[in-house]
Amino acid sequence: MGNSDTARIPEDKWHAVLSNDRSCDGQWYYGVTTTGIFCRPSCKSKPPNRSHVRIFQTASDALSEQFRPCKRCKPVQQQLPDEEWETQARSYIEAHYHEPLTLTLLADVLHLSPYHLQRTFKRLTGSTPAAYIQQIRIREAMKLLTSTDLPVTDIAGHVGFMNAAHFATRFLGATGLTPTQYRGAKREP
Ligand SMILES: [Zn+2]
Repeated sequence: MGNSDTARIPEDKWHAVLSNDRSCDGQWYYGVTTTGIFCRPSCKSKPPNRSHVRIFQTASDALSEQFRPCKRCKPVQQQLPDEEWETQARSYIEAHYHEPLTLTLLADVLHLSPYHLQRTFKRLTGSTPAAYIQQIRIREAMKLLTSTDLPVTDIAGHVGFMNAAHFATRFLGATGLTPTQYRGAKREP
């Protein structure tokens, strides 16, 4: 079975994670397989699903397994450099723009408070997370409008807009054309 001892979290460690037990800090770390982030036992981030937790004896063990240190509890002395954090934030959004992304959810994934996330993201990229998400959605919609025959309402859903009218308004605001006009203009010979 190989790593079966690290693949399951024992009761006492799980309890420490749930109760943010500071006395365990420095003794072991826990990683969350779904986010690829690892934390100190005392981390105040939302408790993960128990089946997604892995225990590491040292921070270097976690790092060598490609887990990234949490921004909130900083399990390694050295903080993630800004550029690395920015890349992480951008790539999460790029991979999940079609899902309902909220600031709270992003904050959870990137292990910052929503307030901090908003500020850090703005400082590094010059736009808010919401504006960045919208920019990606519009960009992807432009691709689908010109490369497919999907109805506009379907495209709205594909790129993460719950509401087609809302999509059309945002699209018009960003490009100066309605989705239909944009498709027509791009297809003219
Ligand atoms: Zn943490």
